[in-house]
Amino acid sequence: MSRIAYVNGRFVPHSHAEVHVEDRGYQFADGVYEVVLVQNGVMVDEIPHLERLDRSLDELRIPHPMSRGALRAQMRELVRQNRIRNGLVYMQVTRGVAKRDHPFPKNAKPSIVMTAKRIAMATPEAVENGVKVITIKDIRWERCDIKSIALLPNVLGKQQARENGAFEAWQVDEDGKVTEGTSSNAWIVTQDGELVTRPATNDILNGITRMSILKLADRQGLKFVERPFSVEEAKSAREAFVSSATAFVTPVTQIDDTVIGNGKAGSLSRGLRDSYMDYAAGEGATA
Ligand code: PMP
Repeated sequence: MSRIAYVNGRFVPHSHAEVHVEDRGYQFADGVYEVVLVQNGVMVDEIPHLERLDRSLDELRIPHPMSRGALRAQMRELVRQNRIRNGLVYMQVTRGVAKRDHPFPKNAKPSIVMTAKRIAMATPEAVENGVKVITIKDIRWERCDIKSIALLPNVLGKQQARENGAFEAWQVDEDGKVTEGTSSNAWIVTQDGELVTRPATNDILNGITRMSILKLADRQGLKFVERPFSVEEAKSAREAFVSSATAFVTPVTQIDDTVIGNGKAGSLSRGLRDSYMDYAAGEGATA
């Protein structure tokens, strides 16, 4: 089946889905994006993702390309046309097409493109074995709270992870504290059983999955705290994991050369993964 993409109001074959060479996303990375998971045919945490899209646009003063209702309808049409039951919708909004010049153009209309694709769920064995992360210097700008398409440091970091046989790279600030992964948030469980993740300041992207996990942890009466943690603390943690819309809760069993816990997924991480999956299929789902 051929894939269909959405480009500025039109559904077109993926192979012909194009934007102009003077799109500001292409020339300046002047745009933002979102990824919404589709699970069993329904969207997961759709509204918080669209709220974050609006926030990213507002922070960069990019006009909203359409109403939320219209966008939700187009997302559903894209999922339907691509016959996605389990996968994701990627959406990107840029400041639009204009003669190349740094200041905001006067009359540009924002461009919006969307693609959808299927993704496979991790096998139980893969979850149980967990993943490796490496640690790298955080070389990004001071507005990591904006989900901007300017992802070069993240791209370089993820590539370094791959070249070192790792799933993710945890970025580390000047104080030796972990900010987040290149496409996920970072978590540890201390030897005292406390769940720790960095507070949502401008140093990190406030993951939608992160917020849902915090809500679930709170409801379950788990001990948790939002504070920065160091690489050393992470390496001596009882458990570690990453979170994102596509990774859910993915246990981390190795950081650089250090094995975490007994090298298998920790019980708190597994429990949170299960409760997040239940949440994604129930309360967090929108048809
Ligand atoms: N941090 C970064 C840098 C990311 O790219 C992502 C994935 N979008 C996340 C965190 C996790 O966010 P979410 O849970 O909303 O997918």
